[in-house]
Amino acid sequence: MAAYLAGAGIDCVVFESEIFPRAHVGESLVPSSTRVFKDLDFLGHMEASRFPRKFGAAWTVSEEVRTYWVDWEGLFPSTEVDIRFQERDQPGVNQKHTYHVDRGKFDLMLLQHANRRGARVYEGTAVKRVDFSDPNCVRIRFGLGRRDVDTTVRMVVDASGRRTLVGNQMRWRLKDPVFDQYALHTWFEGYDRKAIAKSDALSDYIFVHFLPVQNTWLWQIPITDSITSIGVVTQKKNFAKSRESREKFFWDTIATRPELCSTLRESAQLRPLKDEGDYSYAMRQITADRLVMVGDAARFVDPIFSTGVSIALNSSRFASRDVIRALESGDLSRRSFGEFDATISRGTRNWYNFISVYYRLNVLFTAFVQDPRYRLDVLKLLQGDVYDEEEPPVLARMREIVSQVERDERHMWHQLLGDLTCDAFVDAFQAAS
Ligand SMILES: Cc1cc2nc3c(=O)[nH]c(=O)nc-3n(C[C@H](O)[C@H](O)[C@H](O)COP(=O)(O)OP(=O)(O)OC[C@H]3O[C@@H](n4cnc5c(N)ncnc54)[C@H](O)[C@@H]3O)c2cc1C
Repeated sequence: MAAYLAGAGIDCVVFESEIFPRAHVGESLVPSSTRVFKDLDFLGHMEASRFPRKFGAAWTVSEEVRTYWVDWEGLFPSTEVDIRFQERDQPGVNQKHTYHVDRGKFDLMLLQHANRRGARVYEGTAVKRVDFSDPNCVRIRFGLGRRDVDTTVRMVVDASGRRTLVGNQMRWRLKDPVFDQYALHTWFEGYDRKAIAKSDALSDYIFVHFLPVQNTWLWQIPITDSITSIGVVTQKKNFAKSRESREKFFWDTIATRPELCSTLRESAQLRPLKDEGDYSYAMRQITADRLVMVGDAARFVDPIFSTGVSIALNSSRFASRDVIRALESGDLSRRSFGEFDATISRGTRNWYNFISVYYRLNVLFTAFVQDPRYRLDVLKLLQGDVYDEEEPPVLARMREIVSQVERDERHMWHQLLGDLTCDAFVDAFQAAS
């Protein structure tokens, strides 16, 4: 966001509580990120960085599931699927790959880039409070050494991630009534990615491995040629139920996929396990007079499709347009940020519905990916192109099928319905608020 604003000649300041580089979860990007890198003249830096190129994504299931799943009208030959981004042309994205990133390095590069474009960056400077009570300016309180210091600004962009600075302060945060996932993750050196991949070409894809534990999956993300990020995502109740230590829970869960576990056991764990908990939420509002919220500060949806960074980047792309216009016109009231609000809300709602279907009826995703009628439409979502349609037709079709399967107890997929949501298309947040 700072790179966009500074690039437009706006005087802007970034307050960042950490000193970069710092480790962060969220290492696999989707191709819609490329539009932002191009806008910001950052693509060259990505190419020069030697981050692993990500050409696609693959999903695997356990042996038990493989034998359990059923054929569907001959369109569903495999339980293991993969997609390659180059199969679908993406307007404004002229390369076949995106990236897997070490977030320590990637976030530092972005921060330095914003600084090069003219943003002033203060690291190790935590914002404590944002005061909107004066209609003519916003007062920000931040820590400087042992002192708290106040400054006034024309407007605020809250990009504080899952700490949701303004959302917490205003009590706008709504906990997701359906998703309460929990993740444990770390890096491994020497994990043989080729041992699991069906072909060498897939070995640098992101892999989502389903584990035969309810609503539980594992990510496998290349960080360098030899380092791989591995994370187990489960429901909070599974995690809490097991009284064992986190380490034991991590390994026991992975042991449900013996082929994965043995390969992982042969590699070296580089960092202690880190956990991320109960992270899905929305906000009652993401804009106000003199305020926009971008990235995780505005909303967090489950990371199953590696969406977070692309939402953060694209929310800044959309928000910056409104903010630049508002600063030019001098009207910093909430209505000036309406286009951003509508666009990002539409995109995250589409993600949310897609993810809900995925958890509700996993087999449907696998079937659609293999069905030539739907493959490219599903790929469009997986590429991160979710902002241009109120409800993409492929999601509407999924909605129909989910609801048929829910109503028909004799449907061959009925017994495969997941328990994480009762109806993927009910606006859960409306119900909660
Ligand atoms: C388990 C899990 C797996 C994920 N996997 C993926 C993935 O594979 N791909 C993907 O794209 N996304 C993934 N994500 C999501 C991704 O991590 C986030 O969506 C993304 O990092 C959001 O970026 P952001 O800039 O909004 O927030 P952040 O990257 O969190 O940045 C916010 C910054 O604000 C700073 N800050 C916070 N409070 C203050 C304050 N008061 N004052 C000053 N500074 C402050 C923080 O230090 C931080 O640097 C995953 C998330 C989880 C939980």
